[in-house]
Amino acid sequence: MMVSTSPTGAKFEYAPAPESRAIVDIKPSYGLFVNGEFVDGHGHSFKTISPSTEEVLAEVAEADEADVDLAVKAARRAHSRVWGRIPGKERAKYLFRIARIIQERGRELAVLESIDNGKPIKETRDVDVPIAAAHFFYYAGWADKLEYSGHGTQSLGVAGQVIPWNFPLLMLSWKIAPALACGNTVVLKPAETTPLTALLFAEICQQADLPPGVVNIITGAGDTGRALVSHPDVDKVAFTGSTEVGRAIAKSVAGSDKRVTLELGGKAANIVFDDAPLDQAVEGIVNGIFFNQGHVCCAGSRLLVQESVGDEVLARLKRRMATLRLGDPLDKNTDVGAINSAEQLAKIRELSEIGEQEGAERWSAPCELPDHGFWFAPTIFTGVTQAHRIAREEIFGPVLSVLTFRTPAEAIEKANNTPYGLSAGVWTDKGSRILKVANALRAGVVWANTFNKFDPTSPFGGYKESGYGREGGRHGLEGYLKGQSLK
Ligand code: NAD
Repeated sequence: MMVSTSPTGAKFEYAPAPESRAIVDIKPSYGLFVNGEFVDGHGHSFKTISPSTEEVLAEVAEADEADVDLAVKAARRAHSRVWGRIPGKERAKYLFRIARIIQERGRELAVLESIDNGKPIKETRDVDVPIAAAHFFYYAGWADKLEYSGHGTQSLGVAGQVIPWNFPLLMLSWKIAPALACGNTVVLKPAETTPLTALLFAEICQQADLPPGVVNIITGAGDTGRALVSHPDVDKVAFTGSTEVGRAIAKSVAGSDKRVTLELGGKAANIVFDDAPLDQAVEGIVNGIFFNQGHVCCAGSRLLVQESVGDEVLARLKRRMATLRLGDPLDKNTDVGAINSAEQLAKIRELSEIGEQEGAERWSAPCELPDHGFWFAPTIFTGVTQAHRIAREEIFGPVLSVLTFRTPAEAIEKANNTPYGLSAGVWTDKGSRILKVANALRAGVVWANTFNKFDPTSPFGGYKESGYGREGGRHGLEGYLKGQSLK
């Protein structure tokens, strides 16, 4: 039974509304998906667990260098014999087919993602899976129209793609859909804590009769990722993950002919001016930092609120946070699920403790944490200054740092005072202020009076330590084609 407090202080009790997991068939063990079939790896295996219960879900193969080599060879053959040669309109048919199968198997994918990642079913069902399908639909539309892209029509060859654990299926679709639309073949490595939807996607490729070797899925941790990105026969490296690993990858490919796109970390400012519609802004603040447990590269993890409405916004925010329901990811009432891993939970705890030691004031939503699994209550820090580590470092959890400002110039200065530059939000009633502030912010994406909106037609990516290259939209084709950008 979940108990929640309404904005007026009344207590509501929600009967459990669990989504059934019967639709999902998790196998005891998984091999690697190479050349259209599942094969045993040469290396060891590792376990993937449910972060909400710590239950072991499956044993998964850990690809070693020899496995990576076989997968890259399969992708090379598929590129030179089939995928790089067939007309774009033929590739489009496969992409449309994959998109439709993702929709048909949407519930299965949503349940599996919730179990393996810990995120709430209402997010996987309403965000991850529909947007993943939308990416395949969108890039299917581009496959036979590349001459209008402005980036040429010739594919690069084999793409080595490495993705993180926060949006496993969605990041897979951001990577695979444009690569395939442009005629490249792919070897993709999902994160070690969330391999299961990528392995289900491999089954979807079989179901769609995708020619063998066009998509290869290899599982493993950092060593597998390193072997993939440094493989000499990979033409293009696409990485989403931490800035630290992104930097190591940039070094390892420097001096080679490989093309690289890096989507890295962030520390976004969500700026609330005193004329903003405050209730809407509070929803945007909550969505900005507590959506997906704050495991979002573009999360609005720094709230910059104009001093004159600071107390009012904080009071409303705390009232709203007290209504958030934390618990079983498969319960349809759940707003905040489990932290993805014990390691990530330790990192969030450590940075939060540092926030307190540095003098910021901590407040957490009053919610009961389950006995098993990895959990962290939605938390805000007030009295934060630019010098605090919690204002500078990415926490990648449900933790918001609150700072204040007096003038638009101060808001812009504080928002840009970060090594990152991925996203930002602006809340104000004034259209001209939105345009002025958005123009002055050094961020790849700026949302106005909304936050965390994703659409396949819209490019996404960062500046500075948030990486380079864009995914999504026409811009997302550039990283997978040989032509020069028209800009
Ligand atoms: P991570 O960098 O530790 O891992 C990401 C992936 O890289 C995993 O698959 C991992 O196995 C692999 N990897 C680890 N070491 C490697 C190496 N040396 N060579 C090649 N691959 C290696 O990041 P994480 O903790 O899984 O993800 C969280 C980070 O991802 C956050 O910093 C977040 O901001 C970032 N992120 C960015 C975006 C974006 O679009 N900008 C989106 C989601 C997440």
